[in-house]
Amino acid sequence: MSDYPTDPNCIFCKIVAGEILCHKLYEDDFVLAFLDIGPLSKGHTLVIPKGHYETIDQVPPEVAAAMGRIVPALSKAIMQATGAKSWNLLQNNGSAAGQVVPHVHLHIIPRFAGDSRETPTTGNGLPFGWPASEIDHAEAGELAETIRNNA
Ligand code: AMP
Ligand code: ZN
Repeated sequence: MSDYPTDPNCIFCKIVAGEILCHKLYEDDFVLAFLDIGPLSKGHTLVIPKGHYETIDQVPPEVAAAMGRIVPALSKAIMQATGAKSWNLLQNNGSAAGQVVPHVHLHIIPRFAGDSRETPTTGNGLPFGWPASEIDHAEAGELAETIRNNA
């Protein structure tokens, strides 16, 4: 009997429960890591908490710490196995951010030489733009204070 929340309809909870197979890379009491079934690149990996939490703000600190703790060694192992020298960490929260599976997950996405940020080819990269704007310092000061007060 697990002591973490589960959702019987969630595909990642089914993977945690062993009801759906995955290519497992790592497991401990809090965390599971496995290869993404639709890899953006060779070695594309997902790190998930075993408990069902929809977005990162819902994850208990000890579980978030467990997720973070494995990232350096797991990244190193993935890069050694794939030969990649670069990688992105991506963590989508909510549909506007591109989250499709509503169970928290961290993507580790290896990047290869010739893999372009703007125009990747299928199976070779992560398309994302970086449409930066200019900061409004007055507004930013107020925003920073509000966030500090809420943290
Ligand atoms: P996101 O858009 O951040 O919610 O990403 C969800 C990811 O889960 C996608 O990259 C999918 O390819 C991946 N995914 C969905 N189902 C499975 C599965 N059964 N095994 C492994 N990865 C999966
Ligand atoms: Zn779940």
